Amino acid sequence: DQRIARIASSIRVIPDFPKPGIMFQDITTLLLDPKAFKDTIDLFVERYRDKNINVIAGIEARGFIFGPPIALAIGAKFVPMRKPKKLPGEVISEEYSLEYGTDKIEMHVGAVQAGERAVIVDDLIATGGTLNAAIRLLVPKPIAERVGVTVVECACVIELAELKGREKLGDKSLFVLVSET
Ligand code: 5GP
Repeated sequence: DQRIARIASSIRVIPDFPKPGIMFQDITTLLLDPKAFKDTIDLFVERYRDKNINVIAGIEARGFIFGPPIALAIGAKFVPMRKPKKLPGEVISEEYSLEYGTDKIEMHVGAVQAGERAVIVDDLIATGGTLNAAIRLLVPKPIAERVGVTVVECACVIELAELKGREKLGDKSLFVLVSET
């Protein structure tokens, strides 16, 4: 697909950001190319339209860029999954580990309903820790407010394949546009 090649070449790599040794995949240059940005959204929409998806869950911050246009195009609701203490209402949270320490993502109680079908959207999967926590926010747990949502798939623009993040997603599938090796 020519669209994939354009998307891949529109992503800029910034060495040593945010720390020495990290090759940061910068999607802001993809957003500067309206055709690449539209193709990105179109590829996800082509995959998820007519699949009875009710929920697009977007992960802060760059899942907030790609998730909403997909949600609008397929007629799904958009649910933000945010960093701690950002959402004003009652939340549920899930922790995940970072290289040093832990972090959390949170979702509003009542944002999703039993029986809904969700796709989780982020810009990039590295170790898979963030998406793993996002799945745990949505899948059934023996806690009353954790209603049973079906996670149909996780969707990212970029996968850092060497980090094997997809293995952290259990039985959930991962769809990516660009796989960096
Ligand atoms: P993981 O939890 O899979 O290790 O890391 C994925 C999260 O970190 C995503 O929310 C993603 O936005 C962010 N992230 C990690 N590395 C990069 C990178 O090189 N580029 C971008 N755009 N995001 C990154």
